[in-house]
Amino acid sequence: MDYFSILIVDDEVDFLETLVKRMQKRNIDTVGVISGEKALEALEKRRFDVVLLDIKMPGGMDGIETLREIKRKHPLTEVLLLTGHGSVETSIDGMKLGAFDYLLKPIKLEELLPKLGAAFEQKVTQEQKIRKARIKELVRFPGRVLQQEKEEKK
Ligand SMILES: [Mg+2]
Repeated sequence: MDYFSILIVDDEVDFLETLVKRMQKRNIDTVGVISGEKALEALEKRRFDVVLLDIKMPGGMDGIETLREIKRKHPLTEVLLLTGHGSVETSIDGMKLGAFDYLLKPIKLEELLPKLGAAFEQKVTQEQKIRKARIKELVRFPGRVLQQEKEEKK
């Protein structure tokens, strides 16, 4: 599989640390944070391809709110939701908000890894589509695309 980076967001510290370690052991670039706020901070600092996001988190931001903010600020970042049996409905709401898919807890690594891979592929495909559209536009209207890129960098 191609190189990709994962941000795991879960308030259960033991679960989080164990999962991060297991991912790192497989040479997957993985960072773990314990809240939605920390996830948004981490995404400001560097790029992550896929966010694995717990739906149920105490405090200020729950999973859905975190998802909404991630999608608003980083629309190309794919989000995979982690849910308990009681909150499948919430995950379905999350998918309507742009989450890639959801996984039921407890998760198995052999289920998680292919899902993460699929989410990453989706992101790459989307980025390629955007790049192709840009190139098409650049060929047709050179000035307009350059102007858009300038505005996005602001
Ligand atoms: Mg939780």
